[in-house]
Amino acid sequence: MAADYFCSQCRTPFINDAPLDDHGVCSRCRSGLTGYDTAYSFGYYEGVLKDLIHLFKYSRIEPLAQPLGNLLLRAIPLDQRFDLVVPVPLHWRRRLWRGFNQAELLARPLAHRLGVTVSDVLRRSRNTETQASLSPSERRSNVAGAFVLRNPNAVRGLRILLIDDVLTTGATVGAAATVLRHGGARHVAVLTLARVDRRPSWASRSAEEVASPVTSLTSQSVKGAK
Ligand SMILES: [Zn+2]
Repeated sequence: MAADYFCSQCRTPFINDAPLDDHGVCSRCRSGLTGYDTAYSFGYYEGVLKDLIHLFKYSRIEPLAQPLGNLLLRAIPLDQRFDLVVPVPLHWRRRLWRGFNQAELLARPLAHRLGVTVSDVLRRSRNTETQASLSPSERRSNVAGAFVLRNPNAVRGLRILLIDDVLTTGATVGAAATVLRHGGARHVAVLTLARVDRRPSWASRSAEEVASPVTSLTSQSVKGAK
């Protein structure tokens, strides 16, 4: 991803190095607020990648799971090894409504390529409100306690790769990662296709850039979804 300043731990992009300490770590990571150890993304949530994710998730083009899963693979540093791939679960009611869990579909081809098992050890116990209109702190309290472990011993001592399609504030994956860490997971890395670039100068730029035909077509059909 093209940015000059990143938190060395959660990889949040910044417009300058002011929020980073001497070790290149941001204040949220320093205070242990993220819940996960690190976060990898293939790219930013804009342009073609955003279009593809929309087609996959909202227009339900399931064959995209394979090529998108390959993009996920490319976002993992070569020296990293994991014991278990865990997709962020949907609440059963939303899964029923959508017909599939996008994170689960992405996780399968990825886990196959890594030679690692996909685990459904995480369960979403609460159907949380849609996060779109909430502030970062509201998002964190909205999803706090939304996940539970099906088997309390299933992740003990393991290095977990937690999969979702998009990372926005990190509140959802943070809540999921916290549950995995409480279950004794040794390391929790978040892997998403795309990360929302929340730097102010980029937000205004990407708003102008999303006017591609596919985006306008899909955004009509998905209004109010998620
Ligand atoms: Zn950080």
